[in-house]
Amino acid sequence: MVQNVYLMERNKKIGEKVVINFKKRFFEAYFVETKKEALEKAIDLIPQNDTVSWGGSMSVLEIGLIDHILKGNYNVINRDLAKTAEERTAMLRQALLCDTYLMGTNAISADGQLVNIDCIGNRTASLMFGPKNVIVIAGMNKLTTNLQDAIKRAREIAAPTNMQRVAGKGLRQTPCFSTGICEDCTSKDSICSNIVITRLCNPPKRIKIILTSESLGF
Ligand code: SF4
Repeated sequence: MVQNVYLMERNKKIGEKVVINFKKRFFEAYFVETKKEALEKAIDLIPQNDTVSWGGSMSVLEIGLIDHILKGNYNVINRDLAKTAEERTAMLRQALLCDTYLMGTNAISADGQLVNIDCIGNRTASLMFGPKNVIVIAGMNKLTTNLQDAIKRAREIAAPTNMQRVAGKGLRQTPCFSTGICEDCTSKDSICSNIVITRLCNPPKRIKIILTSESLGF
């Protein structure tokens, strides 16, 4: 546990600088130490009665935010409740116009840029345009030294790991599903159709980033 205290101290020093760099790029950004604080901050940022939706994200799940939204006073667009593929697609399209969209991020560069990889692009589309507000939940494990390393992290760590998660949905025919290693495939089952760098937030403060000292997601 002593080690954790030192890690938390280091993360705080670095994380607060990353928050300053996010703000220079017009993101609204916060550094918090724990998952519990991340949840509290996210709840503060979501107005009651908002229409809320989300992209697939272990980080959002891990802090308990989806549970809170499902129990709370919000209008929810939850594609996991769709009974058919058509209904699911319709919900994904509706989510593009929600009030608050929740998501994680695949990587962060220390100078304050986000890198995200997406299959059909609903998550990256929502990040770029549509929802009035986007809340990004991220652990310090997503932080890399520079943009090149952030892209590398997204491609070589986040995407092959995510493939293990989605493989249960039948997306199996990729090299990374078998080996765990990205081979830059062009398989029809690839989840890496879109690689998006968010280098500035426009309009300012539309994207709100909650960076926590604790590790979240992968
Ligand atoms: S092997 Fe294909 S699906 Fe897997 S991470 Fe690389 S590009 Fe993405």
